[in-house]
Amino acid sequence: MAGAGDFDLYRPAEEHEMLRASVRALAEAKIAPHAADVDESARFPQEALDALVANDLHAVHVPEEFGGAGADALATVIVVEEVARVCASSSLIPAVNKLGSLPVMLAGSKELQARYLTPLAKGDALFSYALSEPDAGSDAGGMKTRAVRDGDHYVLNGVKRWITNAGTSEYYTVMAVTDPEKRTRGGISAFVVEKSDEGVSFGAPERKLGIKGSPTREVYLDNVRIPASRMIGAEGTGFATAMRTLDHTRITIAAQALGIAQGALDYAQGYVRERKQFGRPVGDFQGIQFMLADMAMKLAAARQLTYAAAARSEREDDDLTFYGAAAKCYASDAAMEITTDAVQLLGGYGFTRDYPVERMMRDAKITQIYEGTNQVQRIVMARNLP
Ligand SMILES: Cc1cc2nc3c(=O)[nH]c(=O)nc-3n(C[C@H](O)[C@H](O)[C@H](O)COP(=O)(O)OP(=O)(O)OC[C@H]3O[C@@H](n4cnc5c(N)ncnc54)[C@H](O)[C@@H]3O)c2cc1C
Repeated sequence: MAGAGDFDLYRPAEEHEMLRASVRALAEAKIAPHAADVDESARFPQEALDALVANDLHAVHVPEEFGGAGADALATVIVVEEVARVCASSSLIPAVNKLGSLPVMLAGSKELQARYLTPLAKGDALFSYALSEPDAGSDAGGMKTRAVRDGDHYVLNGVKRWITNAGTSEYYTVMAVTDPEKRTRGGISAFVVEKSDEGVSFGAPERKLGIKGSPTREVYLDNVRIPASRMIGAEGTGFATAMRTLDHTRITIAAQALGIAQGALDYAQGYVRERKQFGRPVGDFQGIQFMLADMAMKLAAARQLTYAAAARSEREDDDLTFYGAAAKCYASDAAMEITTDAVQLLGGYGFTRDYPVERMMRDAKITQIYEGTNQVQRIVMARNLP
């Protein structure tokens, strides 16, 4: 017979449920009221940043030794999920803080960790992750950004594209080629670059379909000279660190997808109870009930897979690569379907900006694209079948 521990996998602990309740209350009170305006005016969700920092929820993954909350992977998922349920743009704050700083946590020296994780935990700095380039997206190993050793320094040159929170973040984990012969097999290294380093500048914000409140910009590195001590791990380990990071943080994107989908489902469920046609609430029609049932079923399946992946992230299990990719792919596909159905359930009203579901449908789309498109997730899964 299975022990109690086996069943605990299927029931979040009480402290996780308490965390969910408190983040939900905060998100509804302080973040939700600004979500439509943040989207409409494509502005940074400053109110969300302030509320998250005030409640120590902006970077919960940072260990206690650096002044962080030391939250586990599932707690991070729950924070991102609950923020995304009301505002996907705002959920990029805790999500990208983890993405940007995880390479330092996984592979950085203690000095590097203390120097960069402490201000992150305090809320004094945001952290971005700079892997992609104009001509190197799915094929990230095809990057051109170069880092050349010069005594005790490295000099970086290149262009990073699509960098979330670029210009807003103080710190950037930048992947650059240190040995063009070796590339992904030991020729790419990771560095911490600071916004204030000479030679760092940013492109204009991208004009996007969704997550409009999350700044996405190019990062230009023009002879940026940084101390060699800013290298994360040994020379040549940067690509492996970048990929290992994504194994963990794709679960955060799955969480974002869950949150967006839950927000759309909750809204649609309330709407069909109120909206009357043919003399009755449209929610009385079985055709509508079946749609809601399918939406809730897909969301429950996506959530179980995501939490199972989060447990694997916490334990650093061997099958994490498969589970991280599977959770991200499945949850984001589910979110796209659920948010599209939510628009359908509101009829013509769903198609307008007067209701939040069209924003949620636009926001859901990015979860199928970033941290590796869902085609790339399928490549990753196929190479790492459990
Ligand atoms: C809003 C936004 C925020 C982002 N934030 C960040 C960030 O913070 N940091 C960062 O480093 N990057 C970030 N990205 C970049 C993102 O990860 C890339 O856009 C993504 O990996 C895809 O790369 P690409 O856009 O170059 O598409 P491409 O690689 O050009 O792909 C084009 C199409 O071809 C498909 N394709 C490519 N190769 C294959 C294959 N082998 N088999 C089958 N299909 C394939 C893709 O799935 C896609 O459908 C962000 C992107 C966006 C849009």
